[in-house]
Amino acid sequence: MAKELKTMELSNSEEMYKMRLVLLGPPGAGKGTQAKRIAGKYQIPHVSTGDILRENLSAGTGLGLKAKTYMDKGELVPDNVLIDIIKERLSKPDCSSGFLLDGYPRTISQAEALNQILADTQLDMVLNITVPDEELLKRLSGRRMCKCGASYHTEFNPPKIMNVCDVCGSTLYQRDDDKEEAIKNRLKVYAKQTQPLIDYYSNLSMLKTVDGTESIDKIFAEITSILDTYE
Ligand code: ADP
Ligand code: AMP
Repeated sequence: MAKELKTMELSNSEEMYKMRLVLLGPPGAGKGTQAKRIAGKYQIPHVSTGDILRENLSAGTGLGLKAKTYMDKGELVPDNVLIDIIKERLSKPDCSSGFLLDGYPRTISQAEALNQILADTQLDMVLNITVPDEELLKRLSGRRMCKCGASYHTEFNPPKIMNVCDVCGSTLYQRDDDKEEAIKNRLKVYAKQTQPLIDYYSNLSMLKTVDGTESIDKIFAEITSILDTYE
């Protein structure tokens, strides 16, 4: 992307605008997997509300304890909590020239709050990754996480040594909400509360759809070709 190159030529104090992106898609679509690659290539912060909530949970904060009751059941954490989180995160200096949102917004009212937070600026693009439900079930039940943030799949994206993180060597774990009952509820919640955002952003001519059933590499190539031609 031309904008990315221009940014690299400037000093920090003159840092230029990069891009403001949202990754949309059901749980298990591959948002986190692609977000890590996009953030690396385009040098924009990856803001995952799920990660922020899980960090709070591990740190035992009041927010984490409150969120856990919703997360374990596969329910959404209330909008007001998420809006405060995203407002604070987007006010940090690293987001001033661009960001990649993963897992936010998840409701129309979160999207409207985002518009207000962004005020005079706006999003450049919403990338919607589509994957059918039966594939999502397989992906989520086989997902394994590492405390360092790396994520794997027992079959589709396995670590070199079973259950051991390639990056830091720690033992992998399964998320509590990647158990069958919670997965089923998350897919229902997605259909009811988050899917309406597809029409919402499509009506604003911001939506680009990406077929998420391809390989991780192919999807990334498709996303970069969309971003590299974006002006
Ligand atoms: P999300 O952030 O959308 O919930 P993840 O990026 O965590 O989804 O991916 C869910 C699971 O599916 C992970 O175990 C990941 O390794 C695996 N995965 C991601 N993309 C693909 C893909 N294109 N093909 C097969 N498995 C994938
Ligand atoms: P994720 O890591 O994106 O799959 O999110 C895990 C869980 O965190 C979700 O199932 C919700 O319980 C909660 N969560 C994350 N982001 C949001 C959001 N924007 N709105 C409400 N709940 C959220």
